[in-house]
Amino acid sequence: MSKLNIETIKFPGLELKRPVIISGPCSAETEEQVLTTAKELAAIGVKIFRAGIWKPRTRPGAFEGVGSLGLPWLKRVKEETGMFIGVEVATSHHVYEALKFGVDMVWVGARTSANPFAVQEVADALKGVNIPVFVKNPVNPDLDLWIGALERINGAGITQLGAIHRGFSTYDKSEFRNHPQWQIPIELHRRIPELPIITDPSHIGGTRDLIADISQEAMDLNFDGLIIEAHTCPEKAWSDASQQVTPARLKEILDNLVLRRPKI
Ligand code: PEP
Ligand code: MN
Repeated sequence: MSKLNIETIKFPGLELKRPVIISGPCSAETEEQVLTTAKELAAIGVKIFRAGIWKPRTRPGAFEGVGSLGLPWLKRVKEETGMFIGVEVATSHHVYEALKFGVDMVWVGARTSANPFAVQEVADALKGVNIPVFVKNPVNPDLDLWIGALERINGAGITQLGAIHRGFSTYDKSEFRNHPQWQIPIELHRRIPELPIITDPSHIGGTRDLIADISQEAMDLNFDGLIIEAHTCPEKAWSDASQQVTPARLKEILDNLVLRRPKI
Protein backbone atom coordinates (compact mmCIF):
# COMPACT_ATOMS: atom_id res chain seq x y z
CA MET A 1 0.00 0.00 0.00
CA SER A 2 1.08 3.53 -0.64
CA LYS A 3 2.33 5.71 2.18
CA LEU A 4 1.61 8.82 0.15
CA ASN A 5 -0.70 11.55 1.39
CA ILE A 6 -2.45 12.65 -1.80
CA GLU A 7 -5.20 15.22 -2.30
CA THR A 8 -7.04 16.15 -5.47
CA ILE A 9 -5.12 18.47 -7.78
CA LYS A 10 -6.78 21.88 -7.91
CA PHE A 11 -6.36 24.77 -10.29
CA PRO A 12 -8.51 27.56 -8.82
CA GLY A 13 -11.74 28.02 -10.77
CA LEU A 14 -10.99 25.15 -13.18
CA GLU A 15 -13.04 21.99 -13.11
CA LEU A 16 -10.64 19.20 -14.04
CA LYS A 17 -12.28 16.66 -16.34
CA ARG A 18 -10.75 13.54 -17.82
CA PRO A 19 -8.75 13.77 -19.96
CA VAL A 20 -6.85 16.64 -18.36
CA ILE A 21 -4.92 18.33 -21.17
CA ILE A 22 -1.63 20.15 -20.73
CA SER A 23 -0.06 21.59 -23.85
CA GLY A 24 2.53 24.04 -25.07
CA PRO A 25 5.92 24.05 -26.74
CA CYS A 26 8.78 21.81 -25.71
CA SER A 27 10.79 25.01 -25.13
CA ALA A 28 9.95 28.66 -24.69
CA GLU A 29 12.00 30.19 -27.52
CA THR A 30 10.88 33.79 -27.94
CA GLU A 31 8.19 35.93 -26.39
CA GLU A 32 6.31 35.96 -29.68
CA GLN A 33 6.45 32.17 -30.12
CA VAL A 34 5.22 31.63 -26.55
CA LEU A 35 2.37 34.14 -26.79
CA THR A 36 1.20 33.05 -30.25
CA THR A 37 1.23 29.36 -29.35
CA ALA A 38 -0.55 30.05 -26.07
CA LYS A 39 -3.28 32.11 -27.71
CA GLU A 40 -3.90 29.42 -30.34
CA LEU A 41 -4.05 26.75 -27.63
CA ALA A 42 -6.39 28.85 -25.49
CA ALA A 43 -8.65 29.24 -28.53
CA ILE A 44 -9.04 25.45 -28.82
CA GLY A 45 -9.86 25.12 -25.13
CA VAL A 46 -6.51 24.22 -23.54
CA LYS A 47 -6.42 25.49 -19.96
CA ILE A 48 -2.98 24.43 -18.76
CA PHE A 49 0.07 25.67 -20.67
CA ARG A 50 3.50 24.04 -20.55
CA ALA A 51 6.83 25.41 -21.77
CA GLY A 52 10.39 24.32 -20.99
CA ILE A 53 12.49 27.19 -19.64
CA TRP A 54 15.49 25.13 -18.52
CA LYS A 55 16.11 22.21 -20.86
CA PRO A 56 18.19 19.26 -19.66
CA ARG A 57 19.73 18.11 -22.93
CA THR A 58 21.25 14.67 -23.26
CA ARG A 59 24.32 16.04 -25.06
CA PRO A 60 25.91 19.45 -24.59
CA GLY A 61 25.68 21.92 -27.43
CA ALA A 62 21.93 21.68 -28.01
CA PHE A 63 19.57 24.50 -27.03
CA GLU A 64 19.42 24.49 -23.22
CA GLY A 65 16.49 26.85 -22.79
CA VAL A 66 16.21 30.61 -22.41
CA GLY A 67 16.25 30.38 -18.60
CA SER A 68 14.58 32.91 -16.31
CA LEU A 69 14.32 35.37 -19.19
CA GLY A 70 11.30 33.36 -20.39
CA LEU A 71 9.36 33.50 -17.13
CA PRO A 72 7.85 36.96 -17.75
CA TRP A 73 6.59 35.58 -21.11
CA LEU A 74 4.73 32.85 -19.24
CA LYS A 75 3.38 35.41 -16.81
CA ARG A 76 1.98 37.26 -19.83
CA VAL A 77 0.37 34.04 -21.05
CA LYS A 78 -1.39 33.76 -17.73
CA GLU A 79 -2.51 37.40 -17.74
CA GLU A 80 -3.59 37.49 -21.37
CA THR A 81 -5.20 34.05 -21.81
CA GLY A 82 -6.17 33.04 -18.27
CA MET A 83 -4.36 29.72 -18.75
CA PHE A 84 -2.48 28.12 -15.87
CA ILE A 85 1.24 27.79 -16.53
CA GLY A 86 3.70 25.01 -15.79
CA VAL A 87 7.44 24.50 -16.20
CA GLU A 88 10.00 21.76 -15.58
CA VAL A 89 12.22 22.29 -12.56
CA ALA A 90 15.47 20.48 -11.86
CA THR A 91 17.18 22.59 -9.17
CA SER A 92 16.16 24.72 -6.17
CA HIS A 93 17.05 27.82 -8.22
CA HIS A 94 14.49 26.79 -10.87
CA VAL A 95 11.83 26.35 -8.17
CA TYR A 96 12.47 29.76 -6.58
CA GLU A 97 12.49 31.50 -9.97
CA ALA A 98 9.30 29.75 -11.13
CA LEU A 99 7.49 30.64 -7.92
CA LYS A 100 8.63 34.26 -8.17
CA PHE A 101 6.86 34.54 -11.53
CA GLY A 102 3.61 32.90 -10.41
CA VAL A 103 4.04 29.52 -12.09
CA ASP A 104 0.97 27.43 -11.14
CA MET A 105 2.43 23.94 -11.41
CA VAL A 106 5.80 22.34 -11.93
CA TRP A 107 7.03 18.99 -13.10
CA VAL A 108 10.18 17.03 -12.44
CA GLY A 109 11.70 15.78 -15.72
CA ALA A 110 12.76 12.24 -16.55
CA ARG A 111 16.49 12.93 -16.20
CA THR A 112 15.93 14.53 -12.81
CA SER A 113 13.58 11.92 -11.34
CA ALA A 114 16.38 9.38 -11.86
CA ASN A 115 18.55 11.34 -9.38
CA PRO A 116 17.44 11.21 -5.72
CA PHE A 117 19.71 14.10 -4.63
CA ALA A 118 18.26 16.37 -7.32
CA VAL A 119 14.69 15.34 -6.49
CA GLN A 120 15.34 15.99 -2.80
CA GLU A 121 16.70 19.44 -3.60
CA VAL A 122 13.58 20.28 -5.62
CA ALA A 123 11.36 18.85 -2.86
CA ASP A 124 13.09 20.94 -0.19
CA ALA A 125 12.70 24.10 -2.28
CA LEU A 126 8.97 23.40 -2.64
CA LYS A 127 8.39 23.08 1.13
CA GLY A 128 5.42 25.15 2.23
CA VAL A 129 4.13 25.72 -1.31
CA ASN A 130 1.40 23.22 -2.04
CA ILE A 131 1.08 23.71 -5.80
CA PRO A 132 0.44 20.77 -8.13
CA VAL A 133 3.66 18.87 -8.84
CA PHE A 134 3.98 16.16 -11.48
CA VAL A 135 6.82 13.65 -11.49
CA LYS A 136 7.85 12.12 -14.79
CA ASN A 137 9.06 8.54 -14.79
CA PRO A 138 12.85 8.26 -14.68
CA VAL A 139 14.48 7.57 -18.06
CA ASN A 140 15.16 3.98 -17.01
CA PRO A 141 12.34 1.50 -16.36
CA ASP A 142 12.66 1.50 -12.57
CA LEU A 143 9.30 1.75 -10.84
CA ASP A 144 10.81 2.07 -7.36
CA LEU A 145 12.94 5.02 -8.47
CA TRP A 146 9.77 6.70 -9.81
CA ILE A 147 7.87 5.99 -6.59
CA GLY A 148 10.87 7.17 -4.56
CA ALA A 149 10.80 10.52 -6.38
CA LEU A 150 7.06 10.84 -5.71
CA GLU A 151 7.69 10.04 -2.03
CA ARG A 152 10.38 12.71 -1.77
CA ILE A 153 8.08 15.39 -3.23
CA ASN A 154 5.21 14.21 -1.04
CA GLY A 155 7.52 14.15 1.98
CA ALA A 156 8.03 17.91 1.53
CA GLY A 157 4.30 18.42 2.07
CA ILE A 158 3.20 18.47 -1.56
CA THR A 159 -0.13 16.67 -1.60
CA GLN A 160 -1.32 17.79 -5.05
CA LEU A 161 0.79 15.15 -6.69
CA GLY A 162 0.61 13.53 -10.11
CA ALA A 163 2.74 11.25 -12.26
CA ILE A 164 3.63 11.64 -15.92
CA HIS A 165 4.36 8.56 -17.98
CA ARG A 166 6.80 9.57 -20.76
CA GLY A 167 8.22 6.18 -21.69
CA PHE A 168 11.60 4.56 -21.05
CA SER A 169 14.97 4.63 -22.82
CA THR A 170 16.17 1.49 -24.56
CA TYR A 171 19.37 0.88 -26.44
CA ASP A 172 17.55 -1.18 -29.05
CA LYS A 173 15.89 0.63 -31.93
CA SER A 174 12.12 0.72 -31.76
CA GLU A 175 9.31 2.68 -33.38
CA PHE A 176 9.12 4.71 -30.15
CA ARG A 177 11.57 7.32 -28.96
CA ASN A 178 10.94 6.07 -25.43
CA HIS A 179 9.23 2.71 -25.14
CA PRO A 180 5.89 3.05 -23.32
CA GLN A 181 6.17 -0.20 -21.33
CA TRP A 182 2.55 0.38 -20.28
CA GLN A 183 2.85 -2.33 -17.61
CA ILE A 184 4.96 0.07 -15.50
CA PRO A 185 2.41 2.92 -15.15
CA ILE A 186 -0.32 0.26 -14.79
CA GLU A 187 1.61 -1.23 -11.86
CA LEU A 188 2.11 2.30 -10.45
CA HIS A 189 -1.67 2.72 -10.57
CA ARG A 190 -2.16 -0.65 -8.87
CA ARG A 191 0.20 0.34 -6.07
CA ILE A 192 -1.04 3.94 -5.65
CA PRO A 193 -4.63 4.00 -6.97
CA GLU A 194 -5.32 7.56 -5.78
CA LEU A 195 -2.37 9.02 -7.78
CA PRO A 196 -3.41 10.74 -11.04
CA ILE A 197 -1.31 9.55 -13.98
CA ILE A 198 -1.09 11.44 -17.24
CA THR A 199 0.60 10.27 -20.42
CA ASP A 200 3.15 12.16 -22.51
CA PRO A 201 2.66 10.82 -26.05
CA SER A 202 5.11 13.39 -27.45
CA HIS A 203 8.16 12.02 -25.64
CA ILE A 204 6.99 8.41 -25.96
CA GLY A 205 6.47 8.70 -29.72
CA GLY A 206 9.23 11.09 -30.69
CA THR A 207 7.36 11.70 -33.93
CA ARG A 208 4.07 13.55 -34.38
CA ASP A 209 2.54 10.72 -36.43
CA LEU A 210 2.38 8.50 -33.35
CA ILE A 211 0.72 10.97 -31.00
CA ALA A 212 -2.92 10.19 -31.84
CA ASP A 213 -2.52 6.42 -31.38
CA ILE A 214 -0.53 6.72 -28.14
CA SER A 215 -3.09 9.18 -26.77
CA GLN A 216 -5.92 6.76 -27.60
CA GLU A 217 -4.03 3.89 -25.96
CA ALA A 218 -3.64 6.01 -22.82
CA MET A 219 -7.37 6.69 -22.78
CA ASP A 220 -8.18 3.00 -23.34
CA LEU A 221 -5.99 2.20 -20.34
CA ASN A 222 -7.93 4.77 -18.31
CA PHE A 223 -5.13 7.20 -17.59
CA ASP A 224 -6.19 10.65 -16.45
CA GLY A 225 -4.79 13.04 -19.03
CA LEU A 226 -2.28 13.94 -21.69
CA ILE A 227 0.62 16.34 -21.91
CA ILE A 228 1.26 17.08 -25.59
CA GLU A 229 3.89 19.38 -27.09
CA ALA A 230 2.48 22.02 -29.44
CA HIS A 231 4.17 24.75 -31.45
CA THR A 232 2.86 27.17 -34.08
CA CYS A 233 5.58 26.04 -36.46
CA PRO A 234 6.73 22.60 -35.24
CA GLU A 235 9.35 21.95 -37.91
CA LYS A 236 11.17 25.13 -36.86
CA ALA A 237 11.14 24.30 -33.12
CA TRP A 238 14.45 24.71 -31.27
CA SER A 239 13.98 21.38 -29.48
CA ASP A 240 11.94 18.24 -30.21
CA ALA A 241 10.89 19.53 -33.65
CA SER A 242 9.81 16.12 -34.95
CA GLN A 243 7.30 15.44 -32.19
CA GLN A 244 5.45 18.75 -31.81
CA VAL A 245 2.07 19.42 -33.41
CA THR A 246 0.32 22.62 -34.35
CA PRO A 247 -2.56 23.72 -32.12
CA ALA A 248 -4.91 22.92 -35.06
CA ARG A 249 -3.61 19.33 -35.24
CA LEU A 250 -3.87 19.02 -31.48
CA LYS A 251 -7.55 19.94 -31.73
CA GLU A 252 -8.07 17.17 -34.32
CA ILE A 253 -6.28 14.64 -32.13
CA LEU A 254 -8.38 15.57 -29.11
CA ASP A 255 -11.65 15.69 -31.07
CA ASN A 256 -11.00 12.17 -32.38
CA LEU A 257 -10.23 10.61 -29.00
CA VAL A 258 -12.73 7.96 -27.99
CA LEU A 259 -13.32 7.50 -24.28
CA ARG A 260 -14.12 3.78 -24.18
CA ARG A 261 -14.66 1.52 -21.20
CA PRO A 262 -11.47 1.30 -19.17
CA LYS A 263 -9.27 -1.78 -19.52
CA ILE A 264 -7.83 -1.47 -16.03
C1 PEP B 1 10.08 17.88 -21.86
O1 PEP B 1 8.99 17.73 -21.28
O2 PEP B 1 10.28 18.68 -22.79
C2 PEP B 1 11.18 16.96 -21.47
C3 PEP B 1 12.45 17.35 -21.49
O3 PEP B 1 10.75 15.76 -21.16
P1 PEP B 1 11.44 14.48 -20.47
O4 PEP B 1 11.87 14.90 -19.13
O5 PEP B 1 10.28 13.52 -20.45
O6 PEP B 1 12.53 14.03 -21.39
MN1 MN C 1 10.37 18.06 -25.23
